Amino acid sequence: RVSIVDLLRRPAEIIGADNNPAHSGIPLPADLYRPQRENSHGIEFGERKALDALTSAIAVERKTSAAVSTSTTEQANAAVAAARRGFRAWNATQAARRAAILDKAADLLEQRRARFLALLQSEGGKTLDDALSEVREAIDFCRYYAALGRKLFGKGETMPGPTGESNVLELRGRGAFVAISPWNFPLAIFLGQVTAVLMAGNAVIAKPAEQTPRIAAEAVALLHEAGVPGSALHLVQGDGTVGAALVSHPAIAGVVFTGSTEVARSINRTLAAKDGPIVPLIAETGGINAMIVDATALPEQVADDVVTSAFRSAGQRCSALRLLFVQDDVADRMIEMIAGAARELKIGDPTQPSTHIGPVIDAEAKQRLDAHIAQMKREARVHLAGEAPAGNFVAPHIFELSAASQLREEVFGPILHVVRYRAERLGEVLSAIEATGFGLTLGIHSRIDDTIEHVIDRLQVGNIYVNRNMIGAVVGVQPFGGSGLSGTGPKAGGPHYLTRFATEQTVTINT
Ligand code: GLU
Repeated sequence: RVSIVDLLRRPAEIIGADNNPAHSGIPLPADLYRPQRENSHGIEFGERKALDALTSAIAVERKTSAAVSTSTTEQANAAVAAARRGFRAWNATQAARRAAILDKAADLLEQRRARFLALLQSEGGKTLDDALSEVREAIDFCRYYAALGRKLFGKGETMPGPTGESNVLELRGRGAFVAISPWNFPLAIFLGQVTAVLMAGNAVIAKPAEQTPRIAAEAVALLHEAGVPGSALHLVQGDGTVGAALVSHPAIAGVVFTGSTEVARSINRTLAAKDGPIVPLIAETGGINAMIVDATALPEQVADDVVTSAFRSAGQRCSALRLLFVQDDVADRMIEMIAGAARELKIGDPTQPSTHIGPVIDAEAKQRLDAHIAQMKREARVHLAGEAPAGNFVAPHIFELSAASQLREEVFGPILHVVRYRAERLGEVLSAIEATGFGLTLGIHSRIDDTIEHVIDRLQVGNIYVNRNMIGAVVGVQPFGGSGLSGTGPKAGGPHYLTRFATEQTVTINT
């Protein structure tokens, strides 16, 4: 087999290096925001001392935290009532003040980085590399929405009108907003939702995933410390039962949700069936994300990008690559290189800096993935079936399908499905991608501009990545979110996101 160990970055390099070219200085609208660079965490390429200092700091923070109790339905209802009361004062607070509080939260996150890294590892099973990226993303969300909020909510927009009349359009908060977040980004997505809701002038009732309650509890404490009033930010802990109670409450002003398509549908149904005001749902769900690799692609780069896209974070990203279409002329070589690279990944204890793949979130997730692997072993050609250590670990797997339709649902783990295609049948590949009904991320590896343009024009997908990996959207650089079965479309970390949480008011004055 082809040895491409060199393609894989060594651990110290992974931490110091940049997974995403966009981090290393692409031009941004200067008036708005500059995202942090990976290196701003103080770990330069190969800087062993800094890494040691960081891992010891994390070890100190890895003390057990207090138990978190589940909220009752009564407590959930009380939180909505309290948020409604808190809304008025928060909505009346100057946008500049709300933004300053979010900037302060970003400063506190920077100061407490080691504590959050420790929590992300112990509660979320994150590798050091993933935990570092996540803390950075959480900080980015706070600063980006603060900068955007100053611009959008600072003052109204004067509209043209006849002499003797003034017309001003203003954005305002909607009321008490419910934010339901997932376990796979327990800090970044949790804070991304909550800070967007707050910046737009809403009060928030946050319901984090039941798998990661402590991270959420400490993030909420941090926001309160930064200056968000207790009356504007409420935390409700528990599973879907308590989430359902919040969503069915008649007085909520909207819901932002990240999770499965199935739950998004059920929230949508609940909101539609209720009496009272008609409120928005902002949903970001999953995807059966595809990458198309043609014969002109650079094999080493493809192997590196496929391994990152399919296996990083144990495949537990909704952006992750699930379905790889490879042109048949190059398929054997390409699959061999990808499998060779994946074999070198180290699975195990996420607190070890050299680990590439940590555990999946819980025993239930492992069971589901194992069942899928068993089914694929019967139905598909096996190219890679690694051994995982005992515990909730799942090794990378690569299966070749005879048709894309064999993969019927999103499989949330390190399992890659490959389908070969003939160059003249690219149209069928595009139809197969469309037929999934999802539209979150898409990768294209090709050197033919016409092919790239054709694919981009034809497919309705939220985030398209050409000749690079397809995960790790950067706040303010790659606004993130999909359509169809993948969500209602708003782009987290993008310039229009906050408007989705606001209501618009036009004031006309006869002067
Ligand atoms: N924004 C993340 C990425 O681009 C994925 C978020 C998710 O998994 O929900 O990889």
